[in-house]
Amino acid sequence: MSTKEEIVERIEALRKQLHHHNRMYYIEDNPEISDAEYDAMMRELIEMEKAYPELITPDSPSQRVGAPRERGVEAFTTVKHAVPMLSLDNTYSKEEVLAFDTRVKKALPDQNDIEYVVEPKVDGVAVSLRYESSIFVQGSTRGNGLMGDNITANLKTIRTIPLRLEGDTIPLLEVRGEVFMPRKAFEKLNEERVASSQEPFANPRNATAGSLKLLDPRISARRKLDIVVHTPGQMEGVSFNTHFEFLEEIGKRGLKANRGYKLCIGIEEAMRCCESWEENHADGVVPYDIDGMVIKVNRLELHDLLGATSKSPRWAVAFKFKARQASTVLKDIVVQVGRTGVLTPVAIFEPVRLGGTVISRATLHNADEIKRKDIRIGDTVLIEKGGEVIPKVVKAVLTKRSGAEKVFTMPQRCPVCSAHLVKVEGEVAIRCENIACPAQLRNRLKHFASRGAMDIEGLGHTLIEQLVDKALVKDVADIYNLDVDAVANLERMGDKSTKNVIEAIEKSKKMDFSRLLFGIGIPYVGSKAADILAEHFPTMRDLSRAAAEQLEAIPEIGPRTAESIVRFFREGENATVIEKLRAVGVNMASQASAQVLSPTATRKSEIRNAQSAIRGRTFVLTGALQSLTRHQAEEEIKTRGGKVSSSVSRKTDYVVVGESPGSKYDKAMKLNVRILSEQDFANMLR
Ligand SMILES: [Zn+2]
Repeated sequence: MSTKEEIVERIEALRKQLHHHNRMYYIEDNPEISDAEYDAMMRELIEMEKAYPELITPDSPSQRVGAPRERGVEAFTTVKHAVPMLSLDNTYSKEEVLAFDTRVKKALPDQNDIEYVVEPKVDGVAVSLRYESSIFVQGSTRGNGLMGDNITANLKTIRTIPLRLEGDTIPLLEVRGEVFMPRKAFEKLNEERVASSQEPFANPRNATAGSLKLLDPRISARRKLDIVVHTPGQMEGVSFNTHFEFLEEIGKRGLKANRGYKLCIGIEEAMRCCESWEENHADGVVPYDIDGMVIKVNRLELHDLLGATSKSPRWAVAFKFKARQASTVLKDIVVQVGRTGVLTPVAIFEPVRLGGTVISRATLHNADEIKRKDIRIGDTVLIEKGGEVIPKVVKAVLTKRSGAEKVFTMPQRCPVCSAHLVKVEGEVAIRCENIACPAQLRNRLKHFASRGAMDIEGLGHTLIEQLVDKALVKDVADIYNLDVDAVANLERMGDKSTKNVIEAIEKSKKMDFSRLLFGIGIPYVGSKAADILAEHFPTMRDLSRAAAEQLEAIPEIGPRTAESIVRFFREGENATVIEKLRAVGVNMASQASAQVLSPTATRKSEIRNAQSAIRGRTFVLTGALQSLTRHQAEEEIKTRGGKVSSSVSRKTDYVVVGESPGSKYDKAMKLNVRILSEQDFANMLR
């Protein structure tokens, strides 16, 4: 059996250790023991205090998780603040902060650059903590500034509020601070609430206020609240010269000041500190919500000189960050067709103020994104403005859903021109590939006229904008039927420049076929692919009739490009525009096709020379030739340095097709081997 002295000794040792580990865990964020070890010590202390209730003290760590209120107590008692708890004036711009500094200097004419302390402003609930003889005796809310609720029991559950101040005993110290809920704890609390069919809290501030109002401190204890202390209140037996000194001292006493407080000389330095926090706070610099910065005159004697208005002190001001998030109602989702034909769903919502501007629309990027975020028309949505200018929709607020919201589906046809839409596999984008789509017309015209394509000098940005705006051009083919007078009447167009551009347009009709192929803007067909295609398919008609397998048989053409070409020509509007181009006399055939058929070689010099077209090439003959026998044909090829094979493969350069060709012809088609008629072959031999 232990003696009373031994018991007192043990209890005090336990309390001391628990205080120490509490501080290491909650304030230093550097625990030295496991939670289990801590709990074991706490249990031992509670057991001993139960056996010897006369040894319980108000600052014992066991007193944090207070007992529930007595039955019948339904409200908090009221506390009168010894010194009124004022709130701060808010400012929203640098100009307003500078005006604050001017007012301070005016009241203190003998001061030059004022020293300021800048602290992050926590978005929480303001409280007062009262320590008598260094023991926490009373905590209250701000209330109306003069009177607040006594929430001592709930505040005791907050681990970062010491029940006893460290160091020498201070007769009286009252401090003010902000109780808040860290973001992680907030998220967890809301998850639990949703899981148990309770309404989740709108934000950490509301969750904090709700938790402090709970009449059962055992529930508050589970809410993981935290505090930062920022202002002295009533004091006896202790004094400070500066605000900075106060913040340093309370840290030593076991109270928690805000992270990142800084002493600044002059308002410019203070402002730079505010701006730097505004820029970076969204990146999770601190694990709780801050909504601005507080700028305070550092010297406490100046506080007395400056005084206060009925509402707020004249020696401090809050600099509020621009709101980065806001919630609003999503009224509709419309689909925009960009200049490259890509469709973008755009959110249209009730106008809302965000980051200093009123916004009513934001991009939703693509259909996959809307599906992933499950955003529906009619939803209340959270809008965010980050570093970029364009706001984005963060998420739908699911708890605000009524069931009447509509799921969005992408249209099947282009909302501008009604053409069928294309979704390329492996890409999120859905696009309109109609070359006459008005939404894309400007871009298509620019591309068509560009140097690498039809190279039409004078048909630049300004002229194109006017041609489209005045509806003088509805597709690329229309430039060949321009009304000269109408063009001459456009801005910055004289007779001479009109004549020049009309001539340049006329001249472009004779441009290489490959340039036209590039210019009409088939997706994935760049200038190199256009060159290769023009060699394999010497006319537009050939190419428009090519099957995907034939296109893919060309080594440089991949399946994605092949499919894109087939799709392009299948679109009726595209065919119409190409026919219009043909009708006005735009060249639609390779020069090579006028001479001989091109081999699979990609070098044009070879194409022009029939001899070299045969030398080193492999031929396959099928069907009956009229002018010469099979044997003679083979001899003609061999004498010119070519080879004759009996079967068609990818290595075959030409298949000469006579009457009633066999399966070799089909295979040649399939492998996209160049087919020669008897006449073609004869020309080649010549
Ligand atoms: Zn379209």
